Amino acid sequence: MTQKTSRISGFHKLSVSERIDQALAFAGLADSDLKALFLDTGNLPAERVDQLIENAVGTMNIPVGVATNLLIDGKDYLVPMATEESSVVAAVCNAARQCYDSGGFVTSMSGTRMIAQVQLVDVPDPGNARLSILERAEEIRAICDDCDPVLVRLGGGFRDLEVRIVDAPSGPMVVTHLIVDTRDAMGANAVNTMAEKLAPHIESWTGGRVYLRILSNLADRRLARARCVWKLDAIGGGAVRDGMIKAYEFALMDPYRAATHNKGIMNGVTAVVMATGNDTRAIEAGAHAYAARKGWYSSLTQWEVTRDGDLAGSLEMPMAVGLIGGATKLHPMARACLQIMDIQSAEQLSRVIAAVGLAQNFSALKALATEGIQKGHMSLHSQNIALMAGAQGDEIARVARRLVDLGTVRIDIAEAELKKLRDGGV
Ligand code: NAD
Repeated sequence: MTQKTSRISGFHKLSVSERIDQALAFAGLADSDLKALFLDTGNLPAERVDQLIENAVGTMNIPVGVATNLLIDGKDYLVPMATEESSVVAAVCNAARQCYDSGGFVTSMSGTRMIAQVQLVDVPDPGNARLSILERAEEIRAICDDCDPVLVRLGGGFRDLEVRIVDAPSGPMVVTHLIVDTRDAMGANAVNTMAEKLAPHIESWTGGRVYLRILSNLADRRLARARCVWKLDAIGGGAVRDGMIKAYEFALMDPYRAATHNKGIMNGVTAVVMATGNDTRAIEAGAHAYAARKGWYSSLTQWEVTRDGDLAGSLEMPMAVGLIGGATKLHPMARACLQIMDIQSAEQLSRVIAAVGLAQNFSALKALATEGIQKGHMSLHSQNIALMAGAQGDEIARVARRLVDLGTVRIDIAEAELKKLRDGGV
Protein backbone atom coordinates (compact mmCIF):
# COMPACT_ATOMS: atom_id res chain seq x y z
CA MET A 1 0.00 0.00 0.00
CA THR A 2 1.39 3.42 -0.88
CA GLN A 3 1.70 5.79 2.03
CA LYS A 4 -0.40 8.92 1.69
CA THR A 5 1.58 12.11 1.59
CA SER A 6 0.84 15.74 2.42
CA ARG A 7 3.59 16.77 0.04
CA ILE A 8 1.35 18.06 -2.75
CA SER A 9 2.90 20.37 -5.28
CA GLY A 10 0.72 22.93 -7.01
CA PHE A 11 -2.20 22.51 -4.56
CA HIS A 12 -2.67 26.27 -4.65
CA LYS A 13 -3.18 26.21 -8.41
CA LEU A 14 -6.22 23.91 -8.16
CA SER A 15 -9.80 25.17 -8.08
CA VAL A 16 -11.61 25.19 -4.73
CA SER A 17 -13.61 22.16 -5.87
CA GLU A 18 -10.48 20.23 -6.86
CA ARG A 19 -8.81 21.04 -3.54
CA ILE A 20 -11.82 19.73 -1.65
CA ASP A 21 -11.68 16.51 -3.68
CA GLN A 22 -7.99 16.08 -2.87
CA ALA A 23 -8.45 16.78 0.83
CA LEU A 24 -11.36 14.35 1.09
CA ALA A 25 -9.49 11.68 -0.88
CA PHE A 26 -6.48 12.13 1.42
CA ALA A 27 -8.71 11.46 4.43
CA GLY A 28 -10.38 8.48 2.73
CA LEU A 29 -13.65 10.42 2.56
CA ALA A 30 -14.00 10.70 -1.22
CA ASP A 31 -17.29 8.82 -1.15
CA SER A 32 -18.78 10.88 1.68
CA ASP A 33 -21.30 13.69 1.32
CA LEU A 34 -18.90 16.19 2.92
CA LYS A 35 -18.13 17.96 -0.34
CA ALA A 36 -21.45 19.81 -0.29
CA LEU A 37 -20.63 21.11 3.19
CA PHE A 38 -17.31 22.52 2.00
CA LEU A 39 -18.86 24.02 -1.13
CA ASP A 40 -21.48 25.89 0.91
CA THR A 41 -19.57 29.10 1.64
CA GLY A 42 -22.57 30.89 3.15
CA ASN A 43 -22.44 34.67 3.06
CA LEU A 44 -18.89 34.79 1.67
CA PRO A 45 -18.86 34.15 -2.10
CA ALA A 46 -16.61 31.25 -3.13
CA GLU A 47 -14.47 33.47 -5.40
CA ARG A 48 -13.89 35.83 -2.47
CA VAL A 49 -12.87 32.95 -0.20
CA ASP A 50 -10.29 31.96 -2.77
CA GLN A 51 -8.99 35.55 -2.97
CA LEU A 52 -8.69 36.02 0.78
CA ILE A 53 -6.46 33.09 1.74
CA GLU A 54 -4.28 30.43 0.15
CA ASN A 55 -5.40 26.86 -0.54
CA ALA A 56 -9.01 27.74 0.34
CA VAL A 57 -11.47 24.85 0.63
CA GLY A 58 -14.45 26.50 2.35
CA THR A 59 -15.62 28.71 5.17
CA MET A 60 -16.40 28.25 8.84
CA ASN A 61 -19.66 29.86 9.93
CA ILE A 62 -19.73 31.42 13.39
CA PRO A 63 -22.96 32.83 14.88
CA VAL A 64 -23.36 36.60 14.86
CA GLY A 65 -25.49 38.05 17.66
CA VAL A 66 -26.45 41.66 18.27
CA ALA A 67 -25.73 43.24 21.65
CA THR A 68 -28.48 45.61 22.74
CA ASN A 69 -28.80 48.42 25.34
CA LEU A 70 -25.46 50.00 24.45
CA LEU A 71 -25.39 53.74 25.01
CA ILE A 72 -21.93 54.97 24.02
CA ASP A 73 -20.99 58.66 24.07
CA GLY A 74 -24.68 59.54 24.05
CA LYS A 75 -25.49 57.43 20.97
CA ASP A 76 -27.44 54.17 20.96
CA TYR A 77 -25.76 51.21 19.27
CA LEU A 78 -26.71 47.71 18.28
CA VAL A 79 -23.37 45.89 18.16
CA PRO A 80 -22.89 42.73 16.08
CA MET A 81 -20.69 40.13 17.77
CA ALA A 82 -19.30 37.00 16.10
CA THR A 83 -18.69 34.29 18.65
CA GLU A 84 -19.17 30.56 19.12
CA GLU A 85 -19.40 30.91 22.92
CA SER A 86 -22.79 31.05 24.60
CA SER A 87 -23.45 33.80 27.20
CA VAL A 88 -21.05 36.31 25.61
CA VAL A 89 -23.70 38.42 23.88
CA ALA A 90 -26.12 38.16 26.81
CA ALA A 91 -23.39 39.34 29.20
CA VAL A 92 -22.88 42.56 27.22
CA CYS A 93 -26.63 43.23 27.00
CA ASN A 94 -27.00 42.78 30.77
CA ALA A 95 -24.09 45.01 31.69
CA ALA A 96 -25.23 47.71 29.27
CA ARG A 97 -28.80 47.59 30.59
CA GLN A 98 -27.58 48.24 34.13
CA CYS A 99 -25.82 51.47 33.13
CA TYR A 100 -28.14 52.70 30.37
CA ASP A 101 -30.24 54.96 32.63
CA SER A 102 -27.17 56.50 34.25
CA GLY A 103 -25.67 57.56 30.92
CA GLY A 104 -23.91 54.51 29.50
CA PHE A 105 -20.28 54.50 28.39
CA VAL A 106 -17.88 57.36 27.79
CA THR A 107 -15.03 56.59 25.41
CA SER A 108 -11.94 58.19 23.92
CA MET A 109 -8.86 57.26 21.92
CA SER A 110 -5.20 58.21 22.14
CA GLY A 111 -4.81 58.39 18.35
CA THR A 112 -4.48 56.08 15.36
CA ARG A 113 -0.69 55.76 15.30
CA MET A 114 1.06 52.45 14.66
CA ILE A 115 4.69 51.53 15.27
CA ALA A 116 6.96 49.82 12.75
CA GLN A 117 10.26 48.40 14.02
CA VAL A 118 13.55 48.20 12.15
CA GLN A 119 16.12 45.93 13.83
CA LEU A 120 19.76 46.88 13.27
CA VAL A 121 22.61 44.61 14.43
CA ASP A 122 26.42 44.46 14.10
CA VAL A 123 26.89 48.00 15.33
CA PRO A 124 30.00 48.46 17.50
CA ASP A 125 28.91 52.00 18.44
CA PRO A 126 25.16 51.78 19.16
CA GLY A 127 25.01 55.19 20.87
CA ASN A 128 26.54 56.85 17.85
CA ALA A 129 24.29 54.89 15.47
CA ARG A 130 21.20 55.84 17.45
CA LEU A 131 21.88 59.56 17.13
CA SER A 132 22.83 59.18 13.46
CA ILE A 133 19.32 57.87 12.84
CA LEU A 134 17.54 60.42 15.05
CA GLU A 135 19.33 63.29 13.27
CA ARG A 136 17.66 62.27 10.03
CA ALA A 137 14.05 62.56 11.18
CA GLU A 138 13.05 64.82 8.28
CA GLU A 139 14.73 62.61 5.69
CA ILE A 140 12.98 59.60 7.25
CA ARG A 141 9.65 61.41 7.17
CA ALA A 142 10.06 62.01 3.43
CA ILE A 143 11.02 58.38 2.73
CA CYS A 144 8.04 57.06 4.70
CA ASP A 145 5.45 59.49 3.36
CA ASP A 146 6.65 58.83 -0.15
CA CYS A 147 5.60 55.18 0.28
CA ASP A 148 1.93 56.02 0.80
CA PRO A 149 0.66 59.22 -0.85
CA VAL A 150 -2.92 57.99 -0.39
CA LEU A 151 -2.48 57.82 3.36
CA VAL A 152 -0.81 61.24 3.43
CA ARG A 153 -3.64 62.74 1.39
CA LEU A 154 -6.08 61.38 3.96
CA GLY A 155 -4.23 63.18 6.76
CA GLY A 156 -2.05 60.26 7.87
CA GLY A 157 1.61 59.39 7.42
CA PHE A 158 4.85 59.58 9.39
CA ARG A 159 4.52 61.28 12.77
CA ASP A 160 7.51 60.52 14.96
CA LEU A 161 10.74 58.63 15.39
CA GLU A 162 12.20 56.76 18.33
CA VAL A 163 15.44 54.80 18.49
CA ARG A 164 16.03 52.30 21.30
CA ILE A 165 19.07 50.24 22.19
CA VAL A 166 18.11 46.68 23.12
CA ASP A 167 20.81 44.67 24.90
CA ALA A 168 20.60 41.20 23.34
CA PRO A 169 22.80 38.21 24.32
CA SER A 170 24.75 38.52 21.04
CA GLY A 171 25.29 42.27 21.44
CA PRO A 172 23.35 45.51 21.29
CA MET A 173 20.59 46.00 18.75
CA VAL A 174 19.57 49.45 17.60
CA VAL A 175 15.80 49.39 17.13
CA THR A 176 14.15 52.20 15.20
CA HIS A 177 10.47 52.88 15.74
CA LEU A 178 8.59 54.61 12.96
CA ILE A 179 5.42 56.09 14.38
CA VAL A 180 2.84 56.44 11.65
CA ASP A 181 -0.73 57.67 11.67
CA THR A 182 -2.63 55.07 9.64
CA ARG A 183 -6.07 56.70 9.99
CA ASP A 184 -8.83 54.27 9.03
CA ALA A 185 -6.46 51.43 8.18
CA MET A 186 -5.19 48.93 10.74
CA GLY A 187 -1.95 49.81 9.03
CA ALA A 188 0.20 46.66 9.07
CA ASN A 189 0.91 46.69 5.34
CA ALA A 190 1.25 50.45 5.30
CA VAL A 191 3.95 50.61 8.00
CA ASN A 192 5.72 47.42 6.91
CA THR A 193 6.27 48.95 3.48
CA MET A 194 7.78 52.05 5.09
CA ALA A 195 10.09 49.99 7.32
CA GLU A 196 11.33 47.98 4.35
CA LYS A 197 11.96 51.10 2.30
CA LEU A 198 13.90 52.73 5.11
CA ALA A 199 16.09 49.72 5.96
CA PRO A 200 18.91 50.22 3.38
CA HIS A 201 19.16 53.87 4.38
CA ILE A 202 19.62 52.94 8.03
CA GLU A 203 22.34 50.47 7.02
CA SER A 204 24.17 53.10 4.99
CA TRP A 205 23.95 55.72 7.79
CA THR A 206 25.25 53.34 10.48
CA GLY A 207 27.30 50.61 8.77
CA GLY A 208 25.19 48.01 10.60
CA ARG A 209 22.99 45.28 9.21
CA VAL A 210 19.19 45.34 9.21
CA TYR A 211 17.22 42.15 9.86
CA LEU A 212 13.56 42.58 10.81
CA ARG A 213 11.30 45.31 9.42
CA ILE A 214 7.78 44.89 10.72
CA LEU A 215 5.05 46.55 12.76
CA SER A 216 4.69 46.01 16.49
CA ASN A 217 1.37 44.64 17.65
CA LEU A 218 1.95 46.40 20.96
CA ALA A 219 0.00 49.35 19.53
CA ASP A 220 0.34 51.57 22.59
CA ARG A 221 -0.07 54.75 20.51
CA ARG A 222 -3.50 53.53 19.53
CA LEU A 223 -5.23 53.06 22.87
CA ALA A 224 -9.01 52.84 23.03
CA ARG A 225 -10.55 53.84 26.34
CA ALA A 226 -13.98 53.28 27.86
CA ARG A 227 -15.32 54.19 31.27
CA CYS A 228 -18.66 53.84 32.94
CA VAL A 229 -20.32 54.29 36.33
CA TRP A 230 -22.82 51.69 37.49
CA LYS A 231 -25.17 53.03 40.16
CA LEU A 232 -25.30 51.02 43.33
CA ASP A 233 -29.05 50.41 43.15
CA ALA A 234 -28.76 49.22 39.52
CA ILE A 235 -26.23 46.52 40.38
CA GLY A 236 -27.82 45.22 43.56
CA GLY A 237 -26.10 47.10 46.37
CA GLY A 238 -22.83 47.54 48.20
CA ALA A 239 -22.12 43.85 48.77
CA VAL A 240 -22.17 43.18 45.01
CA ARG A 241 -19.93 46.20 44.39
CA ASP A 242 -17.44 45.14 47.04
CA GLY A 243 -17.36 41.57 45.74
CA MET A 244 -16.63 42.88 42.25
CA ILE A 245 -13.81 45.09 43.50
CA LYS A 246 -12.30 42.12 45.35
CA ALA A 247 -12.56 40.04 42.16
CA TYR A 248 -10.79 42.82 40.23
CA GLU A 249 -8.04 43.12 42.84
CA PHE A 250 -7.45 39.39 42.49
CA ALA A 251 -6.79 39.90 38.75
CA LEU A 252 -4.69 42.97 39.45
CA MET A 253 -2.31 41.01 41.66
CA ASP A 254 -2.33 37.48 40.28
CA PRO A 255 -1.45 36.55 36.68
CA TYR A 256 -3.31 33.23 36.92
CA ARG A 257 -6.50 35.15 37.61
CA ALA A 258 -5.60 38.04 35.27
CA ALA A 259 -5.35 35.67 32.28
CA THR A 260 -8.96 34.57 32.79
CA HIS A 261 -10.14 38.08 33.66
CA ASN A 262 -8.64 39.44 30.43
CA LYS A 263 -9.93 36.45 28.44
CA GLY A 264 -13.39 37.54 29.51
CA ILE A 265 -12.75 41.07 28.23
CA MET A 266 -11.53 39.57 24.96
CA ASN A 267 -14.76 37.54 24.69
CA GLY A 268 -16.43 40.84 23.88
CA VAL A 269 -13.57 42.58 22.10
CA THR A 270 -12.67 39.70 19.78
CA ALA A 271 -16.31 39.08 18.87
CA VAL A 272 -16.71 42.62 17.49
CA VAL A 273 -13.25 42.55 15.90
CA MET A 274 -14.24 39.32 14.15
CA ALA A 275 -17.70 40.57 13.10
CA THR A 276 -16.07 43.54 11.39
CA GLY A 277 -13.49 41.44 9.52
CA ASN A 278 -10.57 42.76 11.54
CA ASP A 279 -7.45 40.88 12.62
CA THR A 280 -8.33 39.14 15.91
CA ARG A 281 -4.76 37.94 16.53
CA ALA A 282 -3.36 41.47 16.22
CA ILE A 283 -5.81 42.72 18.85
CA GLU A 284 -5.23 39.75 21.17
CA ALA A 285 -1.44 40.10 20.94
CA GLY A 286 -1.65 43.83 21.61
CA ALA A 287 -4.00 43.34 24.55
CA HIS A 288 -1.87 40.78 26.35
CA ALA A 289 1.42 42.59 25.72
CA TYR A 290 -0.17 45.79 27.06
CA ALA A 291 -1.49 43.90 30.10
CA ALA A 292 2.12 42.96 30.90
CA ARG A 293 3.60 46.41 30.30
CA LYS A 294 4.53 46.98 33.95
CA GLY A 295 6.73 43.89 33.97
CA TRP A 296 4.05 41.57 35.26
CA TYR A 297 0.79 40.42 33.69
CA SER A 298 -2.23 42.17 35.15
CA SER A 299 -5.81 43.34 34.59
CA LEU A 300 -6.65 45.44 31.53
CA THR A 301 -9.51 47.06 33.44
CA GLN A 302 -9.65 49.09 36.62
CA TRP A 303 -12.56 49.07 39.10
CA GLU A 304 -13.11 51.67 41.82
CA VAL A 305 -15.73 53.07 44.18
CA THR A 306 -16.83 56.61 43.30
CA ARG A 307 -17.34 59.43 45.81
CA ASP A 308 -21.06 58.58 45.77
CA GLY A 309 -20.38 54.94 46.50
CA ASP A 310 -21.17 53.74 42.96
CA LEU A 311 -19.01 51.39 40.92
CA ALA A 312 -16.70 52.89 38.28
CA GLY A 313 -15.07 50.68 35.65
CA SER A 314 -12.52 51.66 33.04
CA LEU A 315 -10.67 49.90 30.26
CA GLU A 316 -7.68 51.07 28.25
CA MET A 317 -6.11 48.82 25.63
CA PRO A 318 -4.48 48.87 22.20
CA MET A 319 -7.10 48.74 19.46
CA ALA A 320 -5.59 48.51 16.00
CA VAL A 321 -8.73 47.98 13.95
CA GLY A 322 -9.52 49.43 10.55
CA LEU A 323 -12.23 49.92 7.99
CA ILE A 324 -9.86 49.50 5.03
CA GLY A 325 -7.65 46.55 4.25
CA GLY A 326 -7.70 42.84 5.03
CA ALA A 327 -11.19 41.35 5.13
CA THR A 328 -12.82 44.52 6.47
CA LYS A 329 -13.71 45.78 3.00
CA LEU A 330 -13.92 42.43 1.25
CA HIS A 331 -16.23 40.43 3.50
CA PRO A 332 -19.86 41.42 2.81
CA MET A 333 -20.89 40.44 6.34
CA ALA A 334 -18.16 42.67 7.82
CA ARG A 335 -19.49 45.58 5.77
CA ALA A 336 -23.04 44.83 6.91
CA CYS A 337 -21.98 44.72 10.57
CA LEU A 338 -20.26 48.10 10.22
CA GLN A 339 -23.44 49.47 8.64
CA ILE A 340 -25.60 48.22 11.52
CA MET A 341 -23.37 50.22 13.88
CA ASP A 342 -23.23 53.18 11.48
CA ILE A 343 -19.45 53.26 11.84
CA GLN A 344 -17.76 56.16 10.05
CA SER A 345 -14.15 55.83 11.24
CA ALA A 346 -11.69 53.34 12.71
CA GLU A 347 -11.60 55.49 15.83
CA GLN A 348 -15.36 55.21 16.31
CA LEU A 349 -15.19 51.43 15.90
CA SER A 350 -12.30 51.19 18.38
CA ARG A 351 -14.24 53.12 20.99
CA VAL A 352 -17.35 50.96 20.57
CA ILE A 353 -15.19 47.84 20.99
CA ALA A 354 -13.65 49.21 24.18
CA ALA A 355 -17.14 49.80 25.62
CA VAL A 356 -18.11 46.22 24.76
CA GLY A 357 -14.94 44.90 26.44
CA LEU A 358 -15.72 46.84 29.60
CA ALA A 359 -19.34 45.66 29.60
CA GLN A 360 -18.18 42.07 29.24
CA ASN A 361 -15.83 42.44 32.18
CA PHE A 362 -18.59 43.96 34.33
CA SER A 363 -20.86 40.96 33.75
CA ALA A 364 -18.14 38.41 34.40
CA LEU A 365 -17.06 40.10 37.64
CA LYS A 366 -20.64 40.46 38.80
CA ALA A 367 -21.51 36.84 38.09
CA LEU A 368 -18.31 35.60 39.73
CA ALA A 369 -18.76 37.78 42.78
CA THR A 370 -22.40 36.75 43.28
CA GLU A 371 -24.01 33.55 42.01
CA GLY A 372 -20.96 32.15 40.18
CA ILE A 373 -20.45 31.98 36.45
CA GLN A 374 -22.26 28.68 35.80
CA LYS A 375 -25.78 29.85 36.60
CA GLY A 376 -25.88 32.35 33.72
CA HIS A 377 -24.18 29.86 31.43
CA MET A 378 -26.52 27.09 32.41
CA SER A 379 -29.48 27.57 30.09
CA LEU A 380 -27.49 28.12 26.87
CA HIS A 381 -24.95 25.51 27.83
CA SER A 382 -27.73 23.03 28.55
CA GLN A 383 -29.07 23.57 25.02
CA ASN A 384 -25.66 22.77 23.57
CA ILE A 385 -25.47 19.62 25.68
CA ALA A 386 -29.00 18.63 24.62
CA LEU A 387 -27.93 19.04 20.99
CA MET A 388 -24.81 16.97 21.60
CA ALA A 389 -27.00 14.25 23.10
CA GLY A 390 -28.93 14.11 19.83
CA ALA A 391 -32.03 16.13 20.70
CA GLN A 392 -33.90 17.60 17.73
CA GLY A 393 -36.63 20.20 17.22
CA ASP A 394 -38.61 20.88 20.38
CA GLU A 395 -36.73 18.10 22.19
CA ILE A 396 -33.79 20.50 22.54
CA ALA A 397 -35.63 22.98 24.76
CA ARG A 398 -37.34 20.21 26.75
CA VAL A 399 -34.14 18.30 27.49
CA ALA A 400 -32.29 21.57 28.23
CA ARG A 401 -34.98 22.67 30.69
CA ARG A 402 -34.86 19.30 32.39
CA LEU A 403 -31.06 19.58 32.80
CA VAL A 404 -31.41 23.03 34.37
CA ASP A 405 -34.17 21.76 36.69
CA LEU A 406 -31.98 18.87 37.74
CA GLY A 407 -29.11 21.32 38.32
CA THR A 408 -26.67 19.07 36.44
CA VAL A 409 -25.76 19.81 32.84
CA ARG A 410 -24.08 16.64 31.67
CA ILE A 411 -24.11 14.72 28.41
CA ASP A 412 -24.92 11.34 30.03
CA ILE A 413 -27.89 12.85 31.84
CA ALA A 414 -29.02 14.60 28.65
CA GLU A 415 -28.91 11.27 26.81
CA ALA A 416 -30.91 9.58 29.55
CA GLU A 417 -33.49 12.40 29.57
CA LEU A 418 -33.77 12.30 25.79
CA LYS A 419 -34.36 8.56 25.91
CA LYS A 420 -37.05 9.02 28.57
CA LEU A 421 -38.68 11.73 26.48
CA ARG A 422 -38.69 9.56 23.36
CA ASP A 423 -39.97 6.60 25.32
CA GLY A 424 -42.82 8.82 26.43
CA GLY A 425 -41.58 8.93 30.01
CA VAL A 426 -41.24 12.72 30.48
P1 NAD B 1 -4.05 47.71 3.40
O1 NAD B 1 -2.61 47.80 3.06
O2 NAD B 1 -4.86 46.75 2.62
O3 NAD B 1 -4.74 49.14 3.26
C1 NAD B 1 -4.17 50.29 3.82
C2 NAD B 1 -3.96 51.31 2.72
O4 NAD B 1 -5.21 51.74 2.21
C3 NAD B 1 -3.27 52.54 3.24
O5 NAD B 1 -1.89 52.35 3.24
C4 NAD B 1 -3.75 53.61 2.27
O6 NAD B 1 -2.89 53.69 1.16
C5 NAD B 1 -5.09 53.09 1.77
N1 NAD B 1 -6.26 53.81 2.30
C6 NAD B 1 -7.38 54.13 1.60
N2 NAD B 1 -8.27 54.77 2.37
C7 NAD B 1 -7.73 54.89 3.59
C8 NAD B 1 -8.17 55.46 4.83
N3 NAD B 1 -9.37 56.07 4.96
N4 NAD B 1 -7.35 55.39 5.89
C9 NAD B 1 -6.16 54.79 5.80
N5 NAD B 1 -5.68 54.24 4.65
C10 NAD B 1 -6.45 54.28 3.54
O7 NAD B 1 -4.31 47.40 4.93
P2 NAD B 1 -3.47 47.63 6.25
O8 NAD B 1 -4.42 48.20 7.23
O9 NAD B 1 -2.18 48.34 6.01
O10 NAD B 1 -3.14 46.12 6.67
C11 NAD B 1 -4.07 45.33 7.35
C12 NAD B 1 -3.84 43.87 7.03
O11 NAD B 1 -2.50 43.49 7.33
C13 NAD B 1 -4.71 42.97 7.86
O12 NAD B 1 -5.28 42.01 7.01
C14 NAD B 1 -3.72 42.28 8.79
O13 NAD B 1 -4.19 40.99 9.14
C15 NAD B 1 -2.49 42.21 7.96
N6 NAD B 1 -1.18 42.05 8.63
C16 NAD B 1 -1.04 42.06 10.00
C17 NAD B 1 0.22 41.92 10.57
C18 NAD B 1 0.34 41.97 12.07
O14 NAD B 1 -0.62 42.29 12.75
N7 NAD B 1 1.51 41.66 12.65
C19 NAD B 1 1.34 41.78 9.75
C20 NAD B 1 1.16 41.79 8.37
C21 NAD B 1 -0.10 41.93 7.80
